[in-house]
Amino acid sequence: MFQFLFNNKVSQYQNTVQEINKLDIKYSKYSNNDLHKQTEWLKKQLSEKTIDEIIPECFAIIKEAIKRATNLILFDVQIIGAIILHEGKIAEMKTGEGKTLVAIIAAYLNSLFNQGVHIITVNEYLAKRDANLARQVFKYLNITIGIIEQNMNLIQRKQQYQADITYLTNSELGFDYLRDNMAINKKELVQRNFFFAIVDEIDSILIDEARTPLIISGPSDNITNKYIKAKEIANNLELNQDYEIDEKSKNIILSEQGINKCEKILNINNLYDIKNPWVKYIINALKAKNLFLINKDYIIKNNEIVIVDEFTGRIMEGRRWSDGLHQAIEAKENQKIQQENKTLASITYQNLFLLYTKLSGMTGTAKTEEAEFDKIYNLQVIEIPTNKKNNRKDLADLIYKTEYNKWQAIANECFDMYQIGRPTLVGTTSIEKSEFLASILNKLNIPYNLLNAKPENISRESEIISQAGRKFTITIATNMAGRGTDIILGGNPYIISKIELTNYIQSIIMQKYIYMNNEINQILKTLDANFINNHLKINNNNLNDIIDELLNTRNIQNTERQIIGDVYIQLVNYYNNFCELEKQEIIKLGGLYVIGTERHESRRIDNQLRGRSGRQGDPGSSRFFLSLQDNLIKTFGGNQISKLMENLNIDEDIPIESMILNKSLNSAQKKVEAYFYDVRKQLFEYDDVINNQRQAIYTERKRILKSIYTRDCILEYAESTIEEILNKYDRTSDTTNKSQLLDQIYIILNLQNTNSKNRLVSMQSNNLKIFFIEQLRITYDLRETYLEQLKPGLMRQLEKYYLLQQIDYAWQEHLEKMLLLKESIGWRSYGQQDPLTEYKNEAFNLFINMVTYIRQTVIYLIMRSRLITSLDS
Ligand code: ADP
Repeated sequence: MFQFLFNNKVSQYQNTVQEINKLDIKYSKYSNNDLHKQTEWLKKQLSEKTIDEIIPECFAIIKEAIKRATNLILFDVQIIGAIILHEGKIAEMKTGEGKTLVAIIAAYLNSLFNQGVHIITVNEYLAKRDANLARQVFKYLNITIGIIEQNMNLIQRKQQYQADITYLTNSELGFDYLRDNMAINKKELVQRNFFFAIVDEIDSILIDEARTPLIISGPSDNITNKYIKAKEIANNLELNQDYEIDEKSKNIILSEQGINKCEKILNINNLYDIKNPWVKYIINALKAKNLFLINKDYIIKNNEIVIVDEFTGRIMEGRRWSDGLHQAIEAKENQKIQQENKTLASITYQNLFLLYTKLSGMTGTAKTEEAEFDKIYNLQVIEIPTNKKNNRKDLADLIYKTEYNKWQAIANECFDMYQIGRPTLVGTTSIEKSEFLASILNKLNIPYNLLNAKPENISRESEIISQAGRKFTITIATNMAGRGTDIILGGNPYIISKIELTNYIQSIIMQKYIYMNNEINQILKTLDANFINNHLKINNNNLNDIIDELLNTRNIQNTERQIIGDVYIQLVNYYNNFCELEKQEIIKLGGLYVIGTERHESRRIDNQLRGRSGRQGDPGSSRFFLSLQDNLIKTFGGNQISKLMENLNIDEDIPIESMILNKSLNSAQKKVEAYFYDVRKQLFEYDDVINNQRQAIYTERKRILKSIYTRDCILEYAESTIEEILNKYDRTSDTTNKSQLLDQIYIILNLQNTNSKNRLVSMQSNNLKIFFIEQLRITYDLRETYLEQLKPGLMRQLEKYYLLQQIDYAWQEHLEKMLLLKESIGWRSYGQQDPLTEYKNEAFNLFINMVTYIRQTVIYLIMRSRLITSLDS
C-alpha cells in the first residue's frame, strides 16, 4: 500500500514485512498459554538458525502479543523501523509514528541471546512510562522487564540489570558504569555487559549532550579564595579594551592591556603561570559576568546555582559546570562558593555508547546530522516513511526588523488563533523569552500554558504537552520541553481520564469535589468516599504516585483494582468520544499550529519543533517568526541581511517573506552547525586519548576486582618494576646513579641485607634481574607466612585493597593532570606543531608515569604491610 513512498533503502524490507503479516494470522489462533511458550521455542531455533532467519517468526509473535496487550495492530513502517534498529542503525521516524513499540520489537528479538538489552530514554518519566507498556506486552511472552530508577540501591539496580530488557536513562547508565568501575567489592557491581542498546531521541543524547561529560566528583583538598578576587578584577576590566568576547565560541580573549592590568592588581609576573594559574579564574569570572545569564543559562534554587540545559530548557539538577566556572557564577551571584571538586571518574556519552557491541537509535530528526553519526559513531541513518502522508504545511519565515516587532506579531498571531480556537504551540529558546511572551499574552487576556524549566512547572510538563492539542489551547514551551509525549488533536483521552480520576480521589480526601459535567460525575460517583478512605488509605502527599501505580497494576487487591479500573475505562470511553469530536473540529481549523520564535543552532532542532504538528497524517502548519536582532542572524548572518533590509526601506512592523533572505538565513545556520560540529569533533578527538587510557585502567581494575588470587598480579607488578629500573640502570654509566637505582629497588622491595649491595655492582643486569626476582619471592613468601599467621586470608585481602586503592588514587590524579595538560596546550602556542599531536604525546608520558607509580607504590606498601595489620583488626 505504501510502496510508492518507500525509497530504495526501505523497499528491500517489503518481503519480510509481508511474511510477518502472513505468519501473524497463524499466531492469532494461539492460546495465551501457547503464545507464552514461543520465546523458549525461538531461543531453541537460534541454535540452528541465525538471528536474521528467525526475524519473521519472532516479529509475528511480538506483533500478536502487542495486539493482545494494547489492541493496536502494528503498522508496516513500525516493523521496518524495528529491523533497522536490529541492524544497528538509526531509524528516523517522525513524532507520533509509534517508536515506543518499535523499540519493543527490536528489543524482543535481541533479548533472545540472554545478554540483556538496554532501552535508553532522556528522562525517568519516559523510562517508566515505556517500561509499563513493555510489561503489559511481555506478560504474554515470558520476558522480564527492568527499570532503573534514580533512588534505587545497588541490590535493586543489579536485579533490574539482570532483566531481559531494561529501561533506563542515559545518565543512570553512565553513572552506574562509572560507579561500577570504582567498586571495591565484586558484590557492588550492578551492570552486566554492554550488549545491545536502543537509544530513544538519539540525537539529543549523542549530539546535544555530547559536549558535557558525565562526572563523578568528590571534594578536593584544594581550597581557594581566588574566585572573589577574580570577580573583583573582572568588574574592573573594560570590555573591548581589556578583553573581547568571541560570541561564536562563547569565549573571552584578554588583550595585552588586560593581561598587564591583571598582573599589576595581583602583583604577579605571569598571569599564565601553571604553578599559580590565575588566568583560569579571571577568564571564568569574565565569562560569568558576560556570557552566563540568570534565568537563561541557570536559575537560583534554594541558594544554589542550577544549570538550565540550553537545548531542552530543562534544569539539570545536580550537574555543575566544571573547571571552576560554577564557582565563578556562585561568586557573581554572591552565593556560597562550594568547594572545588576533584574529578574521580568521568566519561563522555560518545565513549559510553561506543562500549556497546551493537548500538541503535530512534529519533524524528537525524538526517541533517547524518555525516556526524556516520563519522563519529559509525551509525547509518535510515529515513522511514511516515505511516500516513505528512500533511503539515511549513510556511515561509517572516522576518521583522526588530525583536520588539517580532514578539508583537507573535502575540497577535496567538490572539487570532485563540479567537478561532485553533491549538497553538509556541517554541521559545529561553525561560526569559517564554516569560516575556507570557506577559504580553496576559495583557491581551489570552489564557495559555507555560512550559519551561522552572521547577514549579516541570512535573506537569508531559501533562501540559499531551493537552496542547485541545481547542483554545495556547502552549508556550521552551525548546523541546516535554519531548517524548506526542500532541494529539482534541487531547489524549487516557491522560485526561487519569487527571480526572486523580483529582477526584484527591478532592474526596479534601472533601470539596464539585464537577460541572454530570456525566463524568456519574461515572466517578462509583468510587464513593467511603471506599476510598477505607480501602486505599491514600496519603495526600504522594497521591499522584499512588494513582499511577493503581492504574498500572501492583500491590492493590483485586476488587479495588477492578473498581478503579472500571471507572477509569468508563472515563476513557467518555473522553474518547469527546476528544474525537473535538479533533474533527480542530481538523477543520487546520490542526496544530507551531510557531518558532527564533532559528536554533541547527536545523535539526527547528525540525523537532515543527515535527510536533502533523502527526499520523493530521493537518497542521508551522511558521518561524524572526528578527534581524536574533542571535543567530547577528552572529553569523553578516551584514548582507541587514543591508538588504535597509535597502528595501520598509515599515518596521511589516515582515519580509523573501526567498533571498531565507537563503542567507540557511547559510548562517549551516555555519553554526558546522562550527558546533567542529567543537564536538575536537572534543571527541581529545577525549579519544583519555578514553583508551580509561579502557586500559578499567580493564585492569576489573581483572583485579574479579580475581580471587591477586598474588600473581603483585608479583607481575614487582617484576616489571625491577625490569624498568634495571633498564635505566643499563642506560647510565654514572656509578652514583647506578648505585642510587639499586637502592631504589632495595627500598621498593623492602630488602633488608643492604650489605650485599657492593657485590651487586659488578654483576650483569640479567643476573641482577635473576637475583632480585629471587629476593622478591623469598621476601614475599616470608611476609605472606607472617601475615597468614596473624589472620588466614589476610594477604589476599591486603593485596586487593592496595591494588584498587592505588589504581583509583593514581587515576584520579591522572585525570587532574590531563585536564591541566589540555588547558595548558590551549594556552601555549606551538608554532607549526599540531596541538592534538602534542597532547597525545604528553598524555602518553603521563600515562606511563602513572602506571609506574601504581606498580611501585603497591609493592612498596605491601612489602611493609606489617604496619597495617593493626589497622585491619
Ligand atoms: P513517538 O515516540 O514515535 O512519537 P509513541 O510511541 O509515543 O510515538 O506513540 C504515539 C501514539 O501512537 C501513542 O498514543 C500510541 O499508542 C499510538 N500508536 C503507536 N503505534 C500504533 C499503531 N500501530 N496503531 C495505532 N496507534 C498507535
